[in-house]
Amino acid sequence: MRVVIVGGGMAGLVLARGLIHRGVAPVVLERMPSTAVVEGPIMLPFQAYDALEEIGLLEPIRAAGRDVPPHRDGLPVAIGVGRRLVLDHLREGVDIRWEHEVTGLLRDGDRITGVRARGPEGEREIPAHIVVGADGTHSRVRELAGIEAELTVSDTAFVSFRSPARCEEAFLIEFTSDGRQLTLLDWPGGSAGGWQIERPEGGRDAALAPGVEAFKRAYLRLLPRAAAAVEPVTELTYREVTEVRCDTWWRPGLTLVGEALHAMNPEAGIGSGLGMADAQALAIAVGRHRDDPDRALAEYERWRRPAVAPYLAVGSQGVRVVRGGELRDEERWPPPA
Ligand SMILES: Cc1cc2nc3c(=O)[nH]c(=O)nc-3n(C[C@H](O)[C@H](O)[C@H](O)COP(=O)(O)OP(=O)(O)OC[C@H]3O[C@@H](n4cnc5c(N)ncnc54)[C@H](O)[C@@H]3O)c2cc1C
Repeated sequence: MRVVIVGGGMAGLVLARGLIHRGVAPVVLERMPSTAVVEGPIMLPFQAYDALEEIGLLEPIRAAGRDVPPHRDGLPVAIGVGRRLVLDHLREGVDIRWEHEVTGLLRDGDRITGVRARGPEGEREIPAHIVVGADGTHSRVRELAGIEAELTVSDTAFVSFRSPARCEEAFLIEFTSDGRQLTLLDWPGGSAGGWQIERPEGGRDAALAPGVEAFKRAYLRLLPRAAAAVEPVTELTYREVTEVRCDTWWRPGLTLVGEALHAMNPEAGIGSGLGMADAQALAIAVGRHRDDPDRALAEYERWRRPAVAPYLAVGSQGVRVVRGGELRDEERWPPPA
């Protein structure tokens, strides 16, 4: 079975490793160069653990990160760890064609039979029994396959920062009256945090206009235990997020995993876990039906759709702890004029 995975992010690479684990050697096409900078931490949630355990990476990744309590059966609810470190582990032994961007699909009637990719040596056709779009929120593969998706810009946006200073506690969180979060995650490279705000009308400019020092004061008024970590911060980033929902999971010869299939607002803190678990389910299905691509894809959908459905039904707002009432002025960012 020849599997071509488009996208070398966490979902695509976990799929690649899960297939290799089952004796199927896929090709990963990644448009970025191998040297692309990947900074900062991720909070790897427990939903990722089975997929990482199966390919022997849960322990090394956990050992290089920091447990986020509470623990159950000896495992933490999440792990604060460098994104780069996770990707480096996942890349080991995978045939990744760097700087290869997928620009088209090959077809035989209704069946997708491969991809067209542009790389350093020009454009080429790469045949496949299964093409997997693991190419993120704005998936080109999804679009080329004609799989309809509902894309929504979330009403929650993020003002975030990274700090070289560590935090004594693994994870700090404070909820504003409307249930949005201020968070701080400790990891071996320092700490990283942010404030989830109602997306302001003026976007980035409005969110960043008051400046870093004003932000730090307002953030620390609500989360004073973060003081030591926040003190050295000199830069903020603003980010809006697009959420994705797809009703169709596959077409003959092609399917999607991770954020190409369903992207939630990171407020939920589980995106990587859902993508890795998609990848594991698909690897299992392909391993069981390596002579029958469509049966593998149908089985993937049958197992995985009901597992993802509750998360999508509740949405990222499901993690909010809403106290109700009007937001107090100090809970608003940017501050009211
Ligand atoms: C601000 C932010 C914070 C987050 N924090 C967390 C967190 O703490 N915990 C958590 O679990 N999740 C978090 N997430 C979500 C998490 O990052 C993703 O779920 C995870 O990275 C898996 O994504 P993916 O592999 O599906 O897609 P991506 O990571 O987007 O990977 C897609 C890859 O496809 C490549 N690509 C795209 N188009 C093409 C093409 N045409 N040809 C070839 N390659 C292509 C891209 O270059 C990219 O490498 C966060 C997300 C954001 C935006």
